[in-house]
Amino acid sequence: MIDLTGRVALVTGAASGIGAATAALLAECGARVAGLDLADCAAELALRGDVSIAADVERAVAATEEALGGLDVLVSNAGIFLAGRGDGPSPQLAEDVWQRTLDVNLKSVYLGARFAIPALQRRGGGAIVNVASVAAYRVGSGASDAYTAAKGGVLAITKTLAVAHAPGIRVNAVVPGPIATPMTAVAPDENFGALTDMIPAGRLGRPEDVAAMIAFLASDRASFCTGAAYLVDGGYTAS
Ligand code: NAD
Repeated sequence: MIDLTGRVALVTGAASGIGAATAALLAECGARVAGLDLADCAAELALRGDVSIAADVERAVAATEEALGGLDVLVSNAGIFLAGRGDGPSPQLAEDVWQRTLDVNLKSVYLGARFAIPALQRRGGGAIVNVASVAAYRVGSGASDAYTAAKGGVLAITKTLAVAHAPGIRVNAVVPGPIATPMTAVAPDENFGALTDMIPAGRLGRPEDVAAMIAFLASDRASFCTGAAYLVDGGYTAS
């Protein structure tokens, strides 16, 4: 049982996929939850904004503290993968696609930490969970310079933040494998051919699989976990 009673969490990208499942699970565990997204989300406090814009992130942290009484947990989850819309291996990769991918997937993690850490410190500590990707470990068939670089950067900044802010604030990354969300646009039980065959668990992941790891890392049950990356990939990178 993960108990987040009395905690306040801010989840980015909470309108869809992994972020929506995480916001729902954290609330089920007793937390009060704010969601920040370009679109409306179902969290108790739904905030609209762009995670790559400093003023939007600063405003979201302030609004969460004001409406929900503080901030204990930040889940930096919002991300984009522009495969098929320009991302891919260089030299095909266009500079604007590189920039947008790095801004939404990596700069957002920096901005989240920058504005959330003072809020977490005001509560005497807290937890940050950043959402990376197995793309940082394994190229697979979707070779993409921008997405891979951004997610590798998420793993690196997770370590620097964890060391800088220990012991009060724990900072970890989750590393999802292929998960059935609008980003991958497939249903969980659909046979996704070759990709499913590469996953020893025999299926794509579900958003709830990743949310469970995020909830654990956000909770006191993970009090000895910081500066690390936790795979949720059905064995994909091991195979
Ligand atoms: P998704 O597309 O279902 O959800 C992403 C959410 O982020 C959407 O609600 C979208 O509106 C929001 N978003 C996008 N850009 C934003 C911005 N600039 N500001 C605020 N919100 C923004 O995707 P998902 O699969 O749930 O992905 C969530 C995270 O998990 C991402 O960081 C993604 O890279 C990572 N991930 C996904 C998979 C997968 O297979 N689905 C695998 C590994 C990692």
